Amino acid sequence: MLQYKVAIVGAGPAGYFAAQALQNLQNEDRAFSIDMIERLPTPWGLVRSGVAPDHPKIKTVAKVFEKIAAEPNFRLFANVEIGSEITVAQLAAQYDAVIIATGSALGKKLGIPGEDLYGSMSAADFVPWYNAHPDFADLDVPLDCDTSVVIGAGNVAMDVARMLALEPSELDSTDTVDHAIAAFKKSSVRDVYISARRGPEHAAFTSPELRELPKLEHTNVIMARSDIEAAIARAGDAPEKDVKSNLDAMLLIADSQKTEHERTMHFLFQHTPKEILGTDRVEGIVYSTPSGDVTVKCGLVITAIGYQAESIEGVPYENGKVVNTDGRVKENMYVVGWAKRGPSGVIGTNKSDAAAVIELLVSDLKQPKDNGDISQLITNEQVIDQAAWQRINAAEVAAGEPLGKPRKKLIQFEDFLRAAAI
Ligand code: NAP
Repeated sequence: MLQYKVAIVGAGPAGYFAAQALQNLQNEDRAFSIDMIERLPTPWGLVRSGVAPDHPKIKTVAKVFEKIAAEPNFRLFANVEIGSEITVAQLAAQYDAVIIATGSALGKKLGIPGEDLYGSMSAADFVPWYNAHPDFADLDVPLDCDTSVVIGAGNVAMDVARMLALEPSELDSTDTVDHAIAAFKKSSVRDVYISARRGPEHAAFTSPELRELPKLEHTNVIMARSDIEAAIARAGDAPEKDVKSNLDAMLLIADSQKTEHERTMHFLFQHTPKEILGTDRVEGIVYSTPSGDVTVKCGLVITAIGYQAESIEGVPYENGKVVNTDGRVKENMYVVGWAKRGPSGVIGTNKSDAAAVIELLVSDLKQPKDNGDISQLITNEQVIDQAAWQRINAAEVAAGEPLGKPRKKLIQFEDFLRAAAI
C-alpha cells in the first residue's frame, strides 16, 4: 500500500471537493493523508463568508464538507497562514502534492476617476463585512445616504443590492453578523441602483436569482419593459437557453404588479461607469449610455465586477489567477477552484473541476515521500483542528438557536479561541 501525503491550502469549496476526489480515488494499493490548511480560524471559505445570508439553502453544502472532514484520513489546520508562517516551498518539500485552493479574494477595480473616494468600495470587502469575516469587521460602510449604486450584472451584484434593499428585520433570522444588521437597521438607503454596462441579454445574473426578485416581500423591483423588449429583439429568434430564461425572468419582473414599499431596487442597463463624483466622499456617479452621459446622485458605490486571486509567495500568478495547465502548476503543485480558473461558476462547479485536477495529480504520483508533515513546521500554538472547529461550530449554532438564527457567527479572535477551548 502506497501512502501519499497531500496538503490542500485553503478550506473553501474547491479545497473540500479536492479532498473528496482524493478520498474517492483511494484503493487497496493507494491511500492519501490529507492536511487542509486555512489562514482563518474557520473553514468553509465562501460558504461562510461569501454566500448571501438570505440564501441559507446554498450553505447546506457545508454538511458535505463536514462529512469529508470526518474521514480518518483528513486533518484540518486552521489559523495557520501559508506564505508567512510556513512557505509553500516547505510544504512542497514534505508532501507528495500541494494543492492551492485559495480562491480569489481581491475585488477587480474599475479604473475610473473617483474610485478611491470614501463611500466607494468593492463587493470583495462589503460581502465579507456582512458575513463576519474577521478581516473586515471594521470596514466603514457609509449607509447614511438615501441612494446607493451597485456596479455589475452578476450574482454578486445581485446579492449586494438585495442586502442593501431588504427590510433589515428580514435579516434577523439569518446568520448576518450583528454589526451589519445594526448598520442596516440604521441605514438611510432607500434606493439601490444596480447597473450593467451591457444590455439585459448579456447580464451574468442566473435566472433563479432573477426569479426570486418579484417575491421580495418588502422591496419594490423596477426594470423597464422597454429595456427587456429591446434585448429580446437583439437576441433574435434562437437565443441561448440561459439567455432566454433570463429574459423571460426579466419580463416577469418588468410586468410585476407595482408595490409601494419603502425600499426600491432599480436596474439600469447599458450604463458604463465613467467617473465617480465627490470631493471628500462619493456624491454621485457618471455613466455613459447610448443616449449620452447620465449622472446618478448617490453616497455609496459598490463594485461587483469580478475578483482576482491574492498571491502567495512561491506560486506563479498571471491575470489574477495561478499560472497552470489544467490545474498543474509545477512539480508536485496543483491548483483548483477560482484560483485556477478565475471567479466563475457556482459552488458545485468546483466538484467536477477539482475531480479532473485530482485525476491528473494521481497520474503524476511517484514513490511517496518520507519527509515529515506540517505538524513539524508549525510554531503557532493556536492551531484550530477539526475537533476545535467542531466546538466553534457547535457554539455558534447553539448561540443562534434561541434567536431563531441558523448560527450566531463569532468574529473576534479571542472568542474563537474560547469556543475552541484551546
Ligand atoms: P460575474 O458573474 O462574472 O459578473 C461580473 C459582472 O461584472 C458582469 O456583469 C460584467 O459585465 C461586470 N463587469 C466586469 N467588468 C466591468 C466593468 N469594468 N464595468 C462594469 N461592469 C463590469 O461575477 P460575480 O458576480 O462576481 O460572480 C462570480 C461567480 O459566482 C459567478 O459565476 C456567479 O454566478 C457566482 N455566484 C453565484 C451565486 C448564486 O448562485 N446565488 C451568488 C454569487 C455569485 P460584462 O459581462 O459586461 O463584462
